Amino acid sequence: MENCIFCRIARGEIPAAAVYEDEEILAFKDISPKAPVHILLIPKKHISGLSDMEEGDAALFGRLNFLAAQIAREQGLAESGYRLITNCGRDSGQEVFHIHYHLLGGCFLGSFWG
Ligand code: 5GP
Ligand code: ZN
Repeated sequence: MENCIFCRIARGEIPAAAVYEDEEILAFKDISPKAPVHILLIPKKHISGLSDMEEGDAALFGRLNFLAAQIAREQGLAESGYRLITNCGRDSGQEVFHIHYHLLGGCFLGSFWG
Protein backbone atom coordinates (compact mmCIF):
# COMPACT_ATOMS: atom_id res chain seq x y z
CA MET A 1 0.00 0.00 0.00
CA GLU A 2 1.35 3.31 -1.12
CA ASN A 3 1.20 5.41 2.04
CA CYS A 4 1.09 2.74 4.73
CA ILE A 5 3.95 3.45 7.15
CA PHE A 6 4.83 -0.21 7.72
CA CYS A 7 4.69 -0.99 3.98
CA ARG A 8 7.13 1.87 3.54
CA ILE A 9 9.41 0.44 6.23
CA ALA A 10 9.14 -2.99 4.56
CA ARG A 11 10.18 -1.42 1.22
CA GLY A 12 13.12 0.35 2.90
CA GLU A 13 11.69 3.83 2.21
CA ILE A 14 11.62 4.68 5.91
CA PRO A 15 14.54 3.54 8.07
CA ALA A 16 13.99 1.12 10.92
CA ALA A 17 16.30 -0.83 13.20
CA ALA A 18 15.78 -4.30 11.74
CA VAL A 19 16.54 -7.35 13.85
CA TYR A 20 15.37 -9.93 11.30
CA GLU A 21 14.37 -9.90 7.64
CA ASP A 22 13.46 -12.41 4.98
CA GLU A 23 11.32 -12.30 1.83
CA GLU A 24 8.04 -12.31 3.72
CA ILE A 25 8.68 -11.05 7.25
CA LEU A 26 10.45 -8.10 8.86
CA ALA A 27 11.16 -7.55 12.56
CA PHE A 28 12.33 -4.15 13.77
CA LYS A 29 12.59 -2.16 16.99
CA ASP A 30 9.56 -0.13 18.02
CA ILE A 31 10.28 3.60 17.74
CA SER A 32 8.67 4.24 21.12
CA PRO A 33 9.50 1.20 23.24
CA LYS A 34 7.10 0.25 26.05
CA ALA A 35 9.54 -2.28 27.56
CA PRO A 36 13.34 -2.81 27.51
CA VAL A 37 12.81 -5.12 24.52
CA HIS A 38 10.04 -4.00 22.16
CA ILE A 39 10.22 -5.44 18.68
CA LEU A 40 7.54 -5.37 15.99
CA LEU A 41 7.08 -8.30 13.62
CA ILE A 42 5.22 -7.68 10.38
CA PRO A 43 4.43 -9.58 7.22
CA LYS A 44 5.76 -7.49 4.32
CA LYS A 45 2.45 -8.05 2.56
CA HIS A 46 -0.16 -5.46 3.56
CA ILE A 47 -2.86 -6.89 5.80
CA SER A 48 -4.72 -4.28 7.87
CA GLY A 49 -5.26 -6.36 10.98
CA LEU A 50 -6.00 -9.82 12.31
CA SER A 51 -9.60 -9.68 11.08
CA ASP A 52 -8.34 -9.32 7.50
CA MET A 53 -6.11 -12.38 7.64
CA GLU A 54 -7.16 -15.05 5.14
CA GLU A 55 -6.88 -18.81 5.48
CA GLY A 56 -4.09 -18.79 2.91
CA ASP A 57 -2.03 -16.59 5.27
CA ALA A 58 -2.04 -19.20 8.05
CA ALA A 59 1.40 -20.62 7.25
CA LEU A 60 2.89 -17.11 7.09
CA PHE A 61 1.58 -16.31 10.57
CA GLY A 62 2.67 -19.69 11.88
CA ARG A 63 6.17 -18.85 10.73
CA LEU A 64 5.91 -15.36 12.22
CA ASN A 65 5.14 -16.94 15.62
CA PHE A 66 8.07 -19.31 15.25
CA LEU A 67 10.37 -16.38 14.41
CA ALA A 68 9.06 -14.37 17.37
CA ALA A 69 10.15 -17.17 19.71
CA GLN A 70 13.52 -17.36 17.97
CA ILE A 71 14.05 -13.59 18.28
CA ALA A 72 12.97 -13.70 21.94
CA ARG A 73 15.65 -16.34 22.51
CA GLU A 74 18.26 -14.20 20.72
CA GLN A 75 17.24 -11.21 22.84
CA GLY A 76 17.84 -13.23 26.02
CA LEU A 77 14.15 -13.43 26.96
CA ALA A 78 13.61 -17.18 26.81
CA GLU A 79 14.08 -17.74 30.53
CA SER A 80 12.59 -14.51 31.92
CA GLY A 81 9.58 -14.61 29.61
CA TYR A 82 7.93 -12.25 27.16
CA ARG A 83 4.62 -11.29 25.58
CA LEU A 84 3.52 -11.41 21.93
CA ILE A 85 0.41 -9.40 21.13
CA THR A 86 -1.44 -7.89 18.22
CA ASN A 87 -4.00 -5.11 18.50
CA CYS A 88 -7.01 -5.30 16.21
CA GLY A 89 -9.47 -2.48 15.76
CA ARG A 90 -10.62 0.56 17.69
CA ASP A 91 -11.11 -0.89 21.17
CA SER A 92 -7.64 -2.47 21.14
CA GLY A 93 -6.03 0.92 20.52
CA GLN A 94 -4.55 -0.19 17.17
CA GLU A 95 -2.80 2.83 15.67
CA VAL A 96 -1.05 1.41 12.62
CA PHE A 97 -3.35 -0.48 10.28
CA HIS A 98 -0.76 -2.87 8.90
CA ILE A 99 -0.83 -5.97 11.05
CA HIS A 100 2.04 -6.19 13.50
CA TYR A 101 2.91 -8.26 16.55
CA HIS A 102 4.54 -6.62 19.56
CA LEU A 103 7.27 -8.72 21.17
CA LEU A 104 7.77 -7.29 24.65
CA GLY A 105 10.11 -8.33 27.42
CA GLY A 106 13.03 -7.48 29.64
CA CYS A 107 10.91 -6.46 32.64
CA PHE A 108 7.82 -7.68 34.48
CA LEU A 109 4.91 -6.94 32.15
CA GLY A 110 2.03 -7.44 34.55
CA SER A 111 1.16 -3.76 34.69
CA PHE A 112 0.96 -3.58 30.89
CA TRP A 113 -2.76 -4.29 31.06
CA GLY A 114 -3.29 -1.13 33.08
P1 5GP B 1 -0.43 -0.33 17.65
O1 5GP B 1 -0.94 0.64 18.68
O2 5GP B 1 -0.97 -0.04 16.28
O3 5GP B 1 -0.60 -1.77 18.07
O4 5GP B 1 1.14 -0.13 17.64
C1 5GP B 1 1.82 0.68 16.72
C2 5GP B 1 3.26 0.69 17.16
O5 5GP B 1 4.05 1.14 16.09
C3 5GP B 1 3.52 1.63 18.35
O6 5GP B 1 4.11 0.89 19.42
C4 5GP B 1 4.47 2.68 17.77
O7 5GP B 1 5.44 3.12 18.69
C5 5GP B 1 5.08 1.96 16.58
N1 5GP B 1 5.47 2.83 15.47
C6 5GP B 1 4.69 3.78 14.88
N2 5GP B 1 5.36 4.38 13.88
C7 5GP B 1 6.59 3.79 13.83
C8 5GP B 1 7.73 3.98 12.98
O8 5GP B 1 7.75 4.81 12.07
N3 5GP B 1 8.80 3.20 13.22
C9 5GP B 1 8.82 2.26 14.22
N4 5GP B 1 9.94 1.56 14.39
N5 5GP B 1 7.75 2.06 15.03
C10 5GP B 1 6.65 2.80 14.83
ZN1 ZN C 1 0.98 -1.78 4.91
